[in-house]
Amino acid sequence: MLADKDRIFTNLYGFQSWRLDAARARGDWDDTKALMAKGQDAIIDIVKASGLRGRGGAGFPTGTKWSFMPKEPQVGKGGADRPNFLVINADESEPGSCKDREIMRHDPHKLIEGALIAGYAMRARAAYIYIRGEYIREAEVLFAAVAEAYDAGLIGKNACGSGYDFDVFVHRGAGAYICGEETAMLESLEGKKGQPRLKPPFPAGAGLYGCPTTVNNVESIAVVPTILHRGADWFSSFGAENNRGTKLFQISGHVNKPCVVEEAMSIPFRQLIDEHCGGIRGGWDNLLAVIPGGSSVPLVPAKDIMDAPMDFDGLKAVGSGLGTAAVIVMDKSTDIVRAISRISYFYKHESCGQCTPCREGTGWMWRVMERLRTGEADISEIDTLQQVTKQVEGHSICALGDAAAWPIQGLIKHFRPELERRIVERSGDTAPMMEAAE
Ligand code: SF4
Repeated sequence: MLADKDRIFTNLYGFQSWRLDAARARGDWDDTKALMAKGQDAIIDIVKASGLRGRGGAGFPTGTKWSFMPKEPQVGKGGADRPNFLVINADESEPGSCKDREIMRHDPHKLIEGALIAGYAMRARAAYIYIRGEYIREAEVLFAAVAEAYDAGLIGKNACGSGYDFDVFVHRGAGAYICGEETAMLESLEGKKGQPRLKPPFPAGAGLYGCPTTVNNVESIAVVPTILHRGADWFSSFGAENNRGTKLFQISGHVNKPCVVEEAMSIPFRQLIDEHCGGIRGGWDNLLAVIPGGSSVPLVPAKDIMDAPMDFDGLKAVGSGLGTAAVIVMDKSTDIVRAISRISYFYKHESCGQCTPCREGTGWMWRVMERLRTGEADISEIDTLQQVTKQVEGHSICALGDAAAWPIQGLIKHFRPELERRIVERSGDTAPMMEAAE
């Protein structure tokens, strides 16, 4: 188990106040000026050396992403300034994901200090924190914490006495899942309909208001001050090669004690559940399947997940992904077809409608999933559905199309006999099952 002395988020459960005085007592804003004095490129190098990979799902190396930002001031058409911007993705809307809200409501100063340091390293003029609209109390805390930081001179003009001017703006979204996609988020921040942009250009070249922009997840930014204080070697001492650091895991579903917990990357699934969640409801033999990274990653059947390391590579090896580390546990009482069908409905509902494979495909897939749930479908429709998921996957502007396809692919791969059983039982014809068995 991760030792308490190695926890970055020491107020994750809100046992102490989130306010500035309490945050300072916990070590936040501790000589931030000295951290900044390390130098912009040195900060990027430390983050690179720490092995930190983005905590929002994609897992791209954070320091490398920062290094894509222009180092010299950019000038646009007509001589207008093109300042760099940092955008912090606090739109946490992936079903199962609930870690960033704990940071924002209980440890907001870690995020704001991280924003200053990351923004400074990237030569950014300001940070925009785009927070999910439904996070009303979290937004209230964040607004108040930002005001506290301004009043104390920690951000704004001459932030922390460093001579660097840096603003932090909190922007509330309106509840669309797709605004968690980085370019849709930029559109939304600009006051437009939140629809993903075609890439290239990538945000580091032309992002918010056409200016160089990096979009990072809340957790990725909030861990930065501690990495700088304790060193890249300390952070990279946790987890397996290429999967370094500590990580917030969010475990929901059929465990005895669902929780959000900070643990070392690469912890085996069984250890994570036994040590922090009191085991699987009804015992380990009662485990059916796990969605290990939020609703968009394929499910993993019990036998494959038991000993899997909970990291990017370990979960890829079992045909799924770490995503946001939103671990959804399902025991044998779960109607697995209904569960995946409900996820399909979610993606159908959240499709922004720009591209035909996603707009039409998500609805089509959900309708077939419903027929499979009730057993009204024909057996041949299972293969047709699989083919349609392949037509959607990789054929859309953003990753929502993939996110809609993967859960269904996982279901067909691991639970095809269950799909067939429903169809056969409803039709009263057992012949196809017998043929399959032969
Ligand atoms: Fe919109 Fe779906 Fe296309 Fe993404 S994949 S841009 S959500 S239609």
